[in-house]
Amino acid sequence: MSTERAVQRLSEQGIDIVRIGYSDLIGTERGKDVLVERLGDVVESGLAFCQAVYYTSPQGDVVPVPGGIDRGLPDVTIRPDLSTLVPLPWEPGVASCLGDAFDPVGDKPFPESPREVMRAAAARLGELGLTALVGPELEYFLLEPDGAGGWRRYDDAPGNVYVAGTRGDRGSHVLRALRMLRQMDIGATMGNHEFSGGQFEINLHHSEAVNAADRAFRFKSAIKELARQDGLMATFMAKPFNDEGGSGFHVHLSCDDADGRNVFDDPDGAYGLSETARHAIGGVLAHAPALAALLNPTINSYKRFGPDTLAPWLIDWGLDNRSAMLRVPPERGAGSRMELRLGDATANPYLGISGLLAAVYLGVRDRIDPPAPLEGYGYDTSRSPLLPMSLPVALDALDGDTALAEVLGKEFVSSFLAYKRNEVERFSQFVTDWEFREYAYHL
Ligand code: GLU
Ligand code: MG
Repeated sequence: MSTERAVQRLSEQGIDIVRIGYSDLIGTERGKDVLVERLGDVVESGLAFCQAVYYTSPQGDVVPVPGGIDRGLPDVTIRPDLSTLVPLPWEPGVASCLGDAFDPVGDKPFPESPREVMRAAAARLGELGLTALVGPELEYFLLEPDGAGGWRRYDDAPGNVYVAGTRGDRGSHVLRALRMLRQMDIGATMGNHEFSGGQFEINLHHSEAVNAADRAFRFKSAIKELARQDGLMATFMAKPFNDEGGSGFHVHLSCDDADGRNVFDDPDGAYGLSETARHAIGGVLAHAPALAALLNPTINSYKRFGPDTLAPWLIDWGLDNRSAMLRVPPERGAGSRMELRLGDATANPYLGISGLLAAVYLGVRDRIDPPAPLEGYGYDTSRSPLLPMSLPVALDALDGDTALAEVLGKEFVSSFLAYKRNEVERFSQFVTDWEFREYAYHL
């Protein structure tokens, strides 16, 4: 769409400001609000941000990733992708637009831009004649002020497991969110109260991978924004509470060939699955330790894993088996797909989905066969290997997985590792409330 046409359309819709946003390394949205009459200039020259924005911790520390502080905090240029313009329903007069990052030197795509990493991974799968279709499922907790400066679970009553209505949602958060999301056209389909008190899940329709990652990224921003508007806080933290389960980022994935035919389906294959599906599963299992670094990217992520949690613990797969890391849902034909249950909701959707696509690509390319599927209830450590049980172990696995790094881009992987190892280092120096409670009185 030409800029003139876009500006004309926005003006017709009563929009006078465009919010240009993009994902940093950890999947939080950075951006600028631009007056609509200046959009032409921004399309022409881009928006300048300090590259260090990609390497900023949630607390605002600039993490010393090579190429940031050591190069004098250079610029990155953000160019709006006008095909992503959509009105923000809770902010009348404002439209949201995703941006792409470029290195101003040579005007090349910025290798650490998560959207760029995603495009590259999808292109690699494309080399095998495959297009991935991805359906994201995100869970989150909604919190309300506890009256003492902290936060507690919203409408926290036990047993509201997968219910709809005011039983577990006295403020009709789900209804309001669904109606807002519909106007944003990001493929939200349905939602309900999840397993734990104050926990919700909203499902997004499946689509081609880059588009699905865009929608999952926007979904997280939207839910957090909507909650703030209601004086609440939505958190996608993997395991925010000791007494409740965590929040997953389950990703459904199928692959189509050039004719739009689902290539995971094979009525004559074992379990109705094709050789390609088998190799795709094999790739995900083989690269799972490294994938954890992308799909479980925080210190806290590893507290979600465990037996009997609905979150995974072992590197295994099963047919319609929710105790496995990778579940193959029962549908076949056009609905043949895998559901990777590994990820938690803190994952940057671009990077988590990129990792999955890269592992599928490697599995199909290298013809990796998976072990036999899990039967019955899982969690047998003599049968399947354990997932990494901490972030440093997962980061070492990513560091050692040269095949995955080659698909995702070595520059990106080395920046991601530097950023995350700094997080590990900062945490290891930090005295937690658990330590004080455990030791202070008796020791
Ligand atoms: N909350 C679980 C997780 O962390 C998943 C629950 C479900 O199966 O929906 O993965
Ligand atoms: Mg769920």
